[in-house]
Amino acid sequence: MKVAVLGFHHESNTFAPVAASLEQFMSAGLVEGERLITDFVDSHATLAGFIEAGRSSVDVEMTPLIYADLNPMGTITAEAFEVIVGRMLDQLREQGPWDAVLLALHGAAVAEHIRDVDGEILERIRNLVGATVTIGATLDMHANISQRMARIPTVVNTYMTNPHLDAKVRAFQCAELVFRTVRGEIVPVAAFEALPLIVNILRQGTSDVPMRDLVELARVAEQRPGVLSVSLAEGFPYADVEEMGMSALAITDRDPELAREIARDLAEATWAVRSMLQGDGVAVDEALRRANESPRGPVVLLDVGDNVGGGSPADSTHVLAAARRLGVTGVFHSLCDPQAVELCRVAGLGARVAVRAGGKTDRMHGDPILIAGVVRHLDQGRFEEPTATHGGKRFFDAGPRAVVVTGDGYTILLTSRPMGNTSLQELLSAGIDPLAQRIIVAKGVQSPRGAYEPIAAAMIQLDSPGCTSAAVTSLPYKHRRRPMYPYETDALY
Ligand SMILES: [Zn+2]
Repeated sequence: MKVAVLGFHHESNTFAPVAASLEQFMSAGLVEGERLITDFVDSHATLAGFIEAGRSSVDVEMTPLIYADLNPMGTITAEAFEVIVGRMLDQLREQGPWDAVLLALHGAAVAEHIRDVDGEILERIRNLVGATVTIGATLDMHANISQRMARIPTVVNTYMTNPHLDAKVRAFQCAELVFRTVRGEIVPVAAFEALPLIVNILRQGTSDVPMRDLVELARVAEQRPGVLSVSLAEGFPYADVEEMGMSALAITDRDPELAREIARDLAEATWAVRSMLQGDGVAVDEALRRANESPRGPVVLLDVGDNVGGGSPADSTHVLAAARRLGVTGVFHSLCDPQAVELCRVAGLGARVAVRAGGKTDRMHGDPILIAGVVRHLDQGRFEEPTATHGGKRFFDAGPRAVVVTGDGYTILLTSRPMGNTSLQELLSAGIDPLAQRIIVAKGVQSPRGAYEPIAAAMIQLDSPGCTSAAVTSLPYKHRRRPMYPYETDALY
C-alpha cells in the first residue's frame, strides 16, 4: 500500500494585522522528505500519528512529501497558497500513483483569494489523484468545517481536546481507518452537521463543562458498533468565512443512517447548551488585583486579546501597562520585539538597558512600553518540550531572545518571533523559574493550560483588548452566516 503523507497547517485570523506571506512560511520552514519523519516521529503532533500508524502496519509504505506549518496569524497571501499548494500537487503527481493520501490540515485556513483553503486543497488533491484513492485528513479542533472538507476525504476527523493534547491519537485513528479502507475491510460513510453557533474561546476547554460533556458524548458514540469516528469541531470565530462555526461529524462502516443519527444527536446536544458555550473574561485591572492578593503564586493571567495561538502578534502591552499603573509587581511577561532583542544583544549580558518594547504591530495591541533593567540572559531562542503540550509540538524557535529584569519588578522575555507561552521549557531554557514568579502573563487562552495548569495557583481569563478578544460579537464580519448564535440570539437550528 503506497501512502503519501503531507500537510498544510494554518489557522488564519482574518482580523489580525500580519499577513501569512510566503516569506513567513519559508522562515517558519517547509519540511520535506525524510525530515518530515525525523522532525515529527517523536512529537505528539498529527504527523506523528500518521507515522506511527504507518510503521505499525507491515503492508504500508509511507512517502513523506511536504509539510507547511506556520503560527496562526492573518490571512494567507495568494502567492503563499499557490506556491505551497502547487508544490504539494507537483510532488503528489511526480511520486504517485497512490493507494492513499494522508493530510495534516488545520481546517481554519483562509487565503486572500480562497476563503475555504482546506476544502480547496482537498478538492485539488481529489481531482489530481482521482475518485478511487483513499484520502484521510485530520483537522485541528478549531476547524471551520465546510461541506467540501466533510465530503471530499474518505476519512476526516478532528482533535477532540482543547488544549490539543490528542493530535497524534486522532491522526493515528484517521490513518488506521484509511489503511483498513484500502484493504477493503471497511467502507466509511460520513454525516456532517454544521451548526449556526460558536463556542467562545473562553469556554473551549474540553476539561470544563459544557465542552467536557459534549466531548464525552462523542466518545461514547464512537464506541457503538459500526461507528468508526466521531468528531465535534469547535470552529474558529476569528476567521470571517461562511463555514465559521461548530460542527459535528460521524463516520460509520456502511451505515449512513447511523452516521446521520450520531451527527444530528451530537449537534442537537451542542445546540441545547449554546448559552453555556458563551462567556466573558475578567477585567484586566480586577484580575491584576486578584492575582496581587493571592497568597500563593504563580497566578497565570491569560491575555485573551493577544492570544498568539489565535493569530495575534504577541506584542500587546495592555496587561503590562496596567500592572505598572496599579503597582502590581513580580510579573513575568513576554513580548515579541526583534528590535528590542537586538538592542539588548548589542548592549550585552549584564548591561543596563532602557528600551521601548512591544506595541509596535498596530494600535489595537497597545503602545510600546519602557523596559529599563539588566540583561540577564541572551540566546538563540531554540528549546525543546518533551511532554505533550498544546498541539504536540516538540521543537520551538522563538528566534533570538533576551531576558531583561527591570528595577521595578518585572521579568521581561523579549523574543524575535511571536510566542504563545505554551511550554514551561520556554522559561526554563531562558533561565527563568516559572515557580518563582508571582504572576505569569500567558498570551493564550486554552493553549497555555497544558503547561501551566499543573503549577498555577490560579488561572484567570482576561477581557483584554486585541484581535483575539473574547468579545467576538463586536468583530466586523462580512462573510459569516446569518443568523448565528450568539451574534443573533434568535438564530434557529
Ligand atoms: Zn486549535
